[in-house]
Amino acid sequence: MEGQEAASTSNHFLIPEEKGQVCCDEWGDSQDDFLVKVLEDSESAGTQRKDECGEGISNTSFEKSTFGNEIKHKCALSGHQDSATSDSQLEPLQAFRHGYLWVSDFSSQAWCEQKLHYSYTAPALVQETPAMTQGSTLHLARELAAHDKVDVNVTSNEDIWAIKVINLLMSAQGFLNGQALAREVPVFGAPFGLDIFIVGLIDELRFDLDQYTVDLSDLKTRTSSHMPSRSQEAQHRLQVMLYKKLFDDLVQGKVAKDLIAKHLRLRLDSQFGEGIMTHLKSAGIECNTLSELLDFTYRRLQSCTCVNKLSIEYVFQDTGETLGRKEILYDEDDLRQKFVESIDYWMGRRPPKGVEIEEAWKCHRCEFVDICEWHQRKTEECVERNRKNACV
Ligand code: SF4
Repeated sequence: MEGQEAASTSNHFLIPEEKGQVCCDEWGDSQDDFLVKVLEDSESAGTQRKDECGEGISNTSFEKSTFGNEIKHKCALSGHQDSATSDSQLEPLQAFRHGYLWVSDFSSQAWCEQKLHYSYTAPALVQETPAMTQGSTLHLARELAAHDKVDVNVTSNEDIWAIKVINLLMSAQGFLNGQALAREVPVFGAPFGLDIFIVGLIDELRFDLDQYTVDLSDLKTRTSSHMPSRSQEAQHRLQVMLYKKLFDDLVQGKVAKDLIAKHLRLRLDSQFGEGIMTHLKSAGIECNTLSELLDFTYRRLQSCTCVNKLSIEYVFQDTGETLGRKEILYDEDDLRQKFVESIDYWMGRRPPKGVEIEEAWKCHRCEFVDICEWHQRKTEECVERNRKNACV
């Protein structure tokens, strides 16, 4: 059970040290999110990470790869099935993301859903660029300026998720102790009661004790010295609004523990391993299980306050200079509508969509353009329309 106040570790950011017996899928997420952040920051936004899926090439079905790997999943939308996986009929949420999503999945989806889909089904075409590496360096420098990294030995998935919860707890605890800044703050929940679990990592929260307000800021690095296009801005806006929604839901006590257990497949009453126990003890927190730790964290969070202002800082990669800052107005109805549209894809209720003709410029720098059926179809429609117009 909980004990004393969490002690002076709020400027520490915990990272898992060893895999131990941990399931690789779960282990990979913190790194994965980091890579996703980097990928998003590059100007060819919308590309995601590589994964172990084979490479399928259709809007409605995964087919035998023409690039090397076997296909491992069958899309729930498809009437076809890969011979190697006759027992697998998974929607994208399960096939690509093991049952829960990252905030970055939604912002990538906002750029081009078809591209997001290909990033899972044709991962060999995704390439990490120097811009991504540079973006990661800038993020890391900011993070290390705010706290030290502390390795913690983990032996189970419950331990790994405990680390996320502890990092969230330390941010809340820091604010309650008068600290003004927290970076890389984990958030999670199932917004809008739609039973889709989302995990995210907020770049920066600033707490003003006098006003009792929390402001959220996201860092985007750019390879050009210009501010982003409208499409990029829309993508970033969705991302920070979703961060706010997740944080606010936690502060308002809307994230039930059994929801976490169900979606993350965790045993809330399982005893933490030695690494986590030692760390909790040194921080003055007497919790032995995720259930106890969540109770403790929720109580601290609920003494905090919801996010007040949202902003995005754009930084030029070459110089590290700030290009500008965009204030974002939170619009919950808009967020809900976009969220509902997005999850239809993840739940396999519709195939992925590519960009509309007005945004065809995105295709010119897309690594999937040569295999993209959506692009091919739109091009053919265009040619046909032009042919008919010419005949009139
Ligand atoms: S080619 Fe165009 S429509 Fe196809 S995935 Fe790329 S950006 Fe999307």
